[in-house]
Amino acid sequence: MKIIMLGAPGAGKGTQAKMIAEKYGIAHVSTGDIFRANIKNGTELGMEAKKYMDQGLLVPDELTVKILLDRVAKDDCKAGYVLDGFPRNIPQAQVLDKALSELGDEIDFAIDVDVPDENIVRRMGGRRACVSCGATYHLEYVPPKAEGVCDECGEKLILRDDDRADTVQKRLSVYHEQTQPLIEFYDGKGVLRTVDGTKDMQEVFEAVTAILEA
Ligand code: ADP
Ligand code: AMP
Repeated sequence: MKIIMLGAPGAGKGTQAKMIAEKYGIAHVSTGDIFRANIKNGTELGMEAKKYMDQGLLVPDELTVKILLDRVAKDDCKAGYVLDGFPRNIPQAQVLDKALSELGDEIDFAIDVDVPDENIVRRMGGRRACVSCGATYHLEYVPPKAEGVCDECGEKLILRDDDRADTVQKRLSVYHEQTQPLIEFYDGKGVLRTVDGTKDMQEVFEAVTAILEA
């Protein structure tokens, strides 16, 4: 099973992708997580990506596409994967399509987690991410058991640099300009499904599993 999560930044793609990966035993592939791991490890790729991420811009396709294609070629993706944060524009989707069709393969579902912009600002302002394992929480909706501490690994939780209010506005406009057209792109392929992302995360997940098991 190969799934793409679509939706604005902060819509809940990562939250749902993680739950899907666990339930169906497939890989969770997040290009944002890959970039953040590279930033943390001080790699050249990380330093280059950070320039764009901190401004709320997309990392150039030349960097992003290769990383994604290398990642999905790994063994843990053989049983399937859920892509979270890729593709983010039409050219990325076309490259993915081509790479899959060369393998005689295709995307099964593109799930759009639909959340209006006004909710997004609240979601991202309250998001806290673990500096070590990347787990995400929300101060109001998904709080950690102990304030400021990751439930999974005990490390510190932070507000991501790109979740600050001014950067969120930029990321939203980049989303509307470059990423939202993917909804029509995948609708045209007959694989688009939409879930109401304003519901609580368990309800959203029920809607997602209903789609995947239909
Ligand atoms: P994305 O991967 O789309 O950027 P996340 O999955 O990180 O979004 O979710 C953004 C923030 O909203 C996080 O703080 C997360 O804990 C919270 N969140 C995710 N899904 C829901 C939901 N259904 N209701 C309320 N908060 C949610
Ligand atoms: P995310 O964790 O998915 O919200 O991604 C955080 C940031 O990483 C984005 O705002 C972009 O700067 C960058 N990024 C992640 N995925 C991509 C992608 N597919 N194409 C370009 N930039 C990306």
